[in-house]
Formats: sequence, C-alpha cells, structure tokens
Amino acid sequence: MQIAHTISEMKTLRSKCTGPVSFVPTMGYLHDGHLELVRRAKKDNPFAVVSIFVNPTQFAPNEDFKTYPRDIDRDLAMLETVKTDIVFIPSPEEMYPEGCNTWVDVEGITATLEGRSRPKHFRGVTTVCNKLFNIVEADSTYFGQKDAQQALVIQKMVADLNMNLKIIVVPTVREKDGLAMSSRNTYLTAEERPSAPVLYKSLQLASGMYEKGERDARKIVAAMTQLISTVPAAKIDYICVSDINTLQDVDTIKGKVVISMAVKLGKPRLIDNIILG
Ligand code: AMP
Repeated sequence: MQIAHTISEMKTLRSKCTGPVSFVPTMGYLHDGHLELVRRAKKDNPFAVVSIFVNPTQFAPNEDFKTYPRDIDRDLAMLETVKTDIVFIPSPEEMYPEGCNTWVDVEGITATLEGRSRPKHFRGVTTVCNKLFNIVEADSTYFGQKDAQQALVIQKMVADLNMNLKIIVVPTVREKDGLAMSSRNTYLTAEERPSAPVLYKSLQLASGMYEKGERDARKIVAAMTQLISTVPAAKIDYICVSDINTLQDVDTIKGKVVISMAVKLGKPRLIDNIILG
C-alpha cells in the first residue's frame, strides 16, 4: 500500500497503475461501511485508490469540521486489510491553495433534504469530488447508499459534465442492531447509543406499511414520527418521502421513492434512508 500526500505524488502513483483504477473518497475515521466500498472496488478492479480528506468546504461554520474524528494510523491499518493500493491524504492547503475560487454546484436536487438543512454543503461535496476525480483519474468510483442524496448528486454531476467515470452505489452497512455505520456514531454517549437504532426501526416500520399496501406518504411519515418520539432525546430534523430521481416530496407513493431522515440524537445528527418501490 502506497501513500500520497501531494497531488503530484498521487499522479505519479496513478501513472504506474497498469489496469482499471477504482476510487473511494472518504473523510476517514473508517468503519466497515467504508471498507465494504473498498472490498467492492477491489473485487471489480485491479487497483483501488482511497482518499482520506476532511473537506472543510462542505462544513458550515457551526458544524463539526474541527472536531470531526481523525485517526490516520488506524485508518491505514484498516485499509491494509482490504488490500488498498494507494491512499491519498492531502492537506487542506494542498487541495485549496490561496486563491482557489472555483465551485461546482449541482442545482435542483441539492435544494431539498440535506441541502435544505445544510446550505452550501453539496457545493463543497461536488467541488471536492470534482477535484479528486481529476487528480485520481479513476475508471470507476464507489459511493454509499447511506448518503443517498450525495450519491444522486454525484451521479447528476458526472452525467451533466460528461465525465468519463462509472459510479457504483453500495448498500448501507449496519451494526447488528440496525444502526447505519457512521464515523459520527462515535459522538453518541453510552446512554444515547441504545436508542440510536430507532432510525432504522422507523424505516422498517415504513417498509412494512408499504408492503401492506399503504401509499399515503403523510401516514407513513406520521407513524415514523410517532415511533421516533418515543425517544425523548431524539429531535427530528426531517423525514421525507421523495421521488428517487427528482428528490421532490411525494404525497402518494407511485414509482420508486426514497424515504430519508435526519435526526439529532444528543451531539450527532444521524441520517438514514431506504428505497421503496
Ligand atoms: P464519509 O467518510 O462519511 O464521507 O463517507 C465516505 C463514503 O462512505 C461515502 O460514499 C459514504 O456514503 C460511504 N459510507 C459511509 N457510511 C456507510 C455505510 N454505513 N455503509 C455504506 N457506505 C457508507
């Protein structure tokens, strides 16, 4: 496993790859969800590049950029176990030198869900992914279903900008009790952690209602809200039933929808989703 800290080191290592290259962008503090993306990448391609970069431009001033968990040694040991070929760990100065002033902004589907609660978040995500894609020059890139809107936004950017890159979306990896794995789960206190699976339980409740024929989005959201309200510390940011392509809210479920949610439980703001239909 080779490590690049600068863009020029990364490009040199990339130029030595003799077959298809896959790329997994991450913010580090890895868990099995990240490793699953790398396993899939390595299964499909001879070379896998992983980036670890806590991207400042996707955090608002009131968010957790400074305190986001970081442990590079632990991450590197984990990446060795899944046979990662190259790890790119740039500094913020390397990625955003003085005077860097160009943004990539996907409009429309970024205005809702996470984008409504976190204005400018996706502008940071699409800008950094664009830069990373140009640096790594991979043939394919792997994203998690856990961040459903992010995966859609990246797909839209790649299509709209005619980028020559295949995107593979990998199902959400969960803890045994259903909690979606996330670097931010580490913020949960011992008292909060047992309540955290309520997000997934509410998604399962929604799925069960759908299976029994319920198509009224308001009824599904109401039942989910009621279940989550049994955890007094949980503060719902949003629960939405949205069209899978436009991410606009639907009243009646007809085609494929994504039910997504953000819930603050103590310090962390947890997100999760399922696709129905
Ligand atoms: P992050 O480090 O949180 O920016 O995530 C890096 C990539 O890992 C993104 O494509 C995420 O969607 C993906 N990811 C994060 N958590 C999970 C999970 N529990 N299951 C599958 N993919 C995940």
